Amino acid sequence: MAGADPRNDGGDPAPWAAGTPVMTGPRSHWQRPPARVDCAVVGGGIAGVSVLRCLLERGLAAVLLEARWCGFGATGRNAGFIDGASWYRRSGDPDEVGAIAELARINHAHLAEALAGHDVGYLQRGAWMLAVDATEAAEVEAAVERARGASIGATYHRTLPDRLRGYHSGGLFPDGGEVHSLRALRRLAAPWAEAIYPGFAVVGLGAHAHGVTVAGPEGELEADQVVLATNAYTPRLAPDVPIAAVRGQILAAGPLPPGTLDRPAGADHGWQYWRQAADGHVLVGGYRDRALLEEVGFGLEPTARVQEHLDAHLRRLGLAAPVVARWAGTMGFTPDGLPLVGTLPGRPRIHVVAGFNGGGMGLAFESARLLAAQLVDGVAPPAWLRPERFPSGTAPPHAARPHEAQPPPVAPEAPGR
Ligand SMILES: Cc1cc2nc3c(=O)[nH]c(=O)nc-3n(C[C@H](O)[C@H](O)[C@H](O)COP(=O)(O)OP(=O)(O)OC[C@H]3O[C@@H](n4cnc5c(N)ncnc54)[C@H](O)[C@@H]3O)c2cc1C
Repeated sequence: MAGADPRNDGGDPAPWAAGTPVMTGPRSHWQRPPARVDCAVVGGGIAGVSVLRCLLERGLAAVLLEARWCGFGATGRNAGFIDGASWYRRSGDPDEVGAIAELARINHAHLAEALAGHDVGYLQRGAWMLAVDATEAAEVEAAVERARGASIGATYHRTLPDRLRGYHSGGLFPDGGEVHSLRALRRLAAPWAEAIYPGFAVVGLGAHAHGVTVAGPEGELEADQVVLATNAYTPRLAPDVPIAAVRGQILAAGPLPPGTLDRPAGADHGWQYWRQAADGHVLVGGYRDRALLEEVGFGLEPTARVQEHLDAHLRRLGLAAPVVARWAGTMGFTPDGLPLVGTLPGRPRIHVVAGFNGGGMGLAFESARLLAAQLVDGVAPPAWLRPERFPSGTAPPHAARPHEAQPPPVAPEAPGR
């Protein structure tokens, strides 16, 4: 058995999740998961809830065990971009880049379908990918061309709307989507609520010949298979998995009249991002690059250093609105910027769908379906998603840019240790 109780990390929930009760005291017989299941999914974010949904739809007796409550992690704290465009900036094998972008496209389509008709702030207004200078502009223009090659009607603009005049130029990608991630998560989870056990922190996994013993705070259960959908926390239960905890910060200001911002935007290689949510509030996030060495680990406190940049960003956009919330969340970063989806090498009953870096809303829903296909049909996910692409002993990355392969380590110690 290995692992530590993630409830010890403390931290308040994002403001829009505040007030959700946390399980305390002994749970009743009814609040306990069954003693034996086909599959125990650990982690109640977009990845875990999506896997649970797929497994139950395929007829498996599956449960979801969540240390706090569904949405406590990054899914309840993110900015709600459903991004596909960034993949067109990725360097490397064009076929692989095309396959990743295609996964993101299918993810968006299927997620939108699952959320259709529900009040979860879903919109597809397209998104801006903005360049801060001529060098980045060349990258953005190339990304637009690649997207067009994949039949995405992206356009490159040297003249930008007034509010974006501080930027050099930009690409407009019509497929960009946005959503209230916590509401979306709750909507996806609602039909399967009976199989979800909040306040159940898995503290250890003991694989044996007939299954896996899953140890929780008040006893154990037996599972044929276990899925780790634990994002940045995954190495606590599977220490060999190269995922690093990286902090991201956001502020929300407003409300402002609808249409104050035309569509979501990201700039400076994704280091800055902002959008106006359906309730009128403007979210501004990013600027991790201004404090890279601080923005690692599991801390959930926003910092003055990053929040000052978010404030300045609001002013540069010409928005004078009160800041109503500031928060932080923990992302799980991998060495190549892609998630790990598949069976853990040498541990045939333990699977992972984690490490979504800065873009889980854009990939996790469909990645979960790929993982479920592995469990139910024995069909492995594409090689570029499988955990074994990282040889044993691969170090987790250090503070990194969204969606990009990692630069060499910049600090003597690995984050999260
Ligand atoms: C500030 C910020 C902004 C972001 N903006 C965007 C964005 O705009 N668009 C986008 O696509 N992505 C964004 N992301 C990234 C995105 O939020 C994540 O990629 C995604 O939510 C990951 O989902 P997940 O289900 O893998 O993990 P999480 O949502 O983190 O869920 C993991 C869950 O596992 C639980 N857990 C951990 N250990 C245990 C255990 N031992 N036992 C039981 N439960 C456990 C945790 O409590 C947690 O609820 C952002 C992230 C942050 C922090």
